[in-house]
Amino acid sequence: MKTDDLEGNLGVGATTLTLGEVQAQIEAYREQERHGAHVARSAPQLGCTLACGFLAFSHPEPGKLSYPQSPAYGFEKSRYWSQQQALTQPACRFTPSSEVDVSLAVLTSRVTQCNFAVKSGGHAAFAGASNIEGGLTLDLRNLNQVAVSADKKQTLVGAGNVWYDVYTKLQPMGLTVIGGRVSAIGVGGLTLGGGISFFSNRHGWACDNVNNFQVVFADGTIRDVSPNAYSDLYWALRGGGNNFGIVTRFDLETYPQGGMWAGSQTFLLTNETATSINHAFYNLAVNSPQDPYAQIIIAYAYAQNPKVYTSLHQIFTTENRLPTRLFLKT
Ligand SMILES: Cc1cc2nc3c(=O)[nH]c(=O)nc-3n(C[C@H](O)[C@H](O)[C@H](O)COP(=O)(O)OP(=O)(O)OC[C@H]3O[C@@H](n4cnc5c(N)ncnc54)[C@H](O)[C@@H]3O)c2cc1C
Repeated sequence: MKTDDLEGNLGVGATTLTLGEVQAQIEAYREQERHGAHVARSAPQLGCTLACGFLAFSHPEPGKLSYPQSPAYGFEKSRYWSQQQALTQPACRFTPSSEVDVSLAVLTSRVTQCNFAVKSGGHAAFAGASNIEGGLTLDLRNLNQVAVSADKKQTLVGAGNVWYDVYTKLQPMGLTVIGGRVSAIGVGGLTLGGGISFFSNRHGWACDNVNNFQVVFADGTIRDVSPNAYSDLYWALRGGGNNFGIVTRFDLETYPQGGMWAGSQTFLLTNETATSINHAFYNLAVNSPQDPYAQIIIAYAYAQNPKVYTSLHQIFTTENRLPTRLFLKT
């Protein structure tokens, strides 16, 4: 069945190819490679060589596909937070610029049996989270739409944005969405993982503030998933990571927001400082109903140079004022 036959009552978005149509296109591509006057080599076999070759063929525009050793591949590799992820070497990296491109990549991976990974901001810490050895990595960074509705109550956010891009667009309008506390984190991974934000005491987690997900399903169709459409999937995506589909757009609840207050202190880590900081953290948490605008982040770290353990203590309020001193209140 053609996917556009389903349009309308099932919330199907842009027209996509079917699995059979992609299979036929890949066959045609292999045939052309086999007989192509300009190519004196055997046709690519099944697997990621074929997947990468076909995607490069169907997306000849510069910047869509990159291979190891190319400058683009090196640049994209540098945009992971952890070394473990950066050192993983996919056969190629594909950078879709629309949900239709994502759909084609999913079906290509199915036809060619090439495993793939999906990257938004690349901040997941473990190898293979958003990169794949010998496979196809979809880098969503060109899904970078940030569009505020006319009534300013909702923002459509492409899944390849990092929070910096979103906040930079919203701040001059006096608006915010419920997202990450560190600007380089991706909208995709944080929101699909739950998403603790500065506003969570008042508005819940990032995933609680998604009105609608635009999702590419495993059959290549593009659908809107909301409390009213595929409500079971909507529930599952709120914390379900990459297990249920590729989200290409998040439609986020949007709030008025003015300035914030923030301060930070770094301590040499000793038993005494650790105990005090842990108490402050505990006190702020148990007293938080008295000031739901107050937030705290505590990090313990090892500084390689000058080889010391430290503790970083950051406190914020999502209003432009000092926080109530709840961390001192036992
Ligand atoms: C320095 C730092 C600070 C952090 N601060 C916070 C914080 O304040 N609050 C908080 O809640 N978390 C925080 N985290 C955790 C962070 O939210 C997770 O690591 C998150 O998964 C990173 O998302 P990403 O898009 O950057 O990563 P990626 O590595 O790109 O993606 C993470 C996972 O999500 C999947 N994924 C990403 N996009 C999609 C998509 N569109 N469709 C389907 N699957 C997708 C990927 O395949 C991967 O498995 C922090 C992490 C770091 C390293």
